[in-house]
Amino acid sequence: MTNEPRETDLATELERFVKEQASRFGDVISYVPAKRVTTEKNIASMSIASIPSVPSVVLVTLEEKLSLHQNEPWHNAKSLKELEALINNCQKCALGATRIKFVFGVGDPHAKVMVIGEAPGADEDASGEPFVGRAGQLLNKMLAAVEFKREEVFIANILKSRPPNNRDPKPEEVAACEPYLWKQISLIQPKLILCLGRIAGTNLLKLNESLGKMRNQDYNFCGIPVVVTYHPAALMRNPDWKHGAWEDLKRLRRMYEELPA
Ligand code: SF4
Repeated sequence: MTNEPRETDLATELERFVKEQASRFGDVISYVPAKRVTTEKNIASMSIASIPSVPSVVLVTLEEKLSLHQNEPWHNAKSLKELEALINNCQKCALGATRIKFVFGVGDPHAKVMVIGEAPGADEDASGEPFVGRAGQLLNKMLAAVEFKREEVFIANILKSRPPNNRDPKPEEVAACEPYLWKQISLIQPKLILCLGRIAGTNLLKLNESLGKMRNQDYNFCGIPVVVTYHPAALMRNPDWKHGAWEDLKRLRRMYEELPA
């Protein structure tokens, strides 16, 4: 017997919690206006020093990051479909030899919100789609709680092949794989990014921070605002964290509502 709550219970619990909060706040999406969020549009007219809540680092553009890979065949892909066809046999790191399926990502190619996780797990490795197992079902509920459908966002991972036994990605694996994610971001051009878990947040943002610290900060990835929250698998293990996740998701929705039309 295990004392770990069953995921179905947790999903129901999250749903019930969201409904309670919704009735308390009047409506799931009637949020208190947040401070102005930096968007892609107004970033263009800002100096680096004036971008709010961005650590004092040099703002590198996606194009600059991708230019380091201009000699690779996928660099000039014009669509996600073309990119996937060019990289789905990748063997750039050792994970290429142990994966069952390459997990490119799924969703709207023009999504305003991109959701980024850590790496495929067993269910994802078997199916070739990110977040399809129990954590995936919980992610769908988390998105639905703030009125996003799974198919209207784009879901991807830092790594596109499964690390054995779901261990953390190694730095060399991230270094080999992350340019594909950058290319996906450059093709999709999301207006907001939601990172699921510490591994996704620290690797995307190149920070050495705890999840607790990242959750309470506004970040930008190459000018795209980033919200970091719990990985759904972590919420399954720690149901008490769902209150924090709910706050993060509301912040994401507020930022979405404030995007220019
Ligand atoms: S994890 Fe990424 S870099 Fe490594 S083999 Fe898979 S697709 Fe290639």
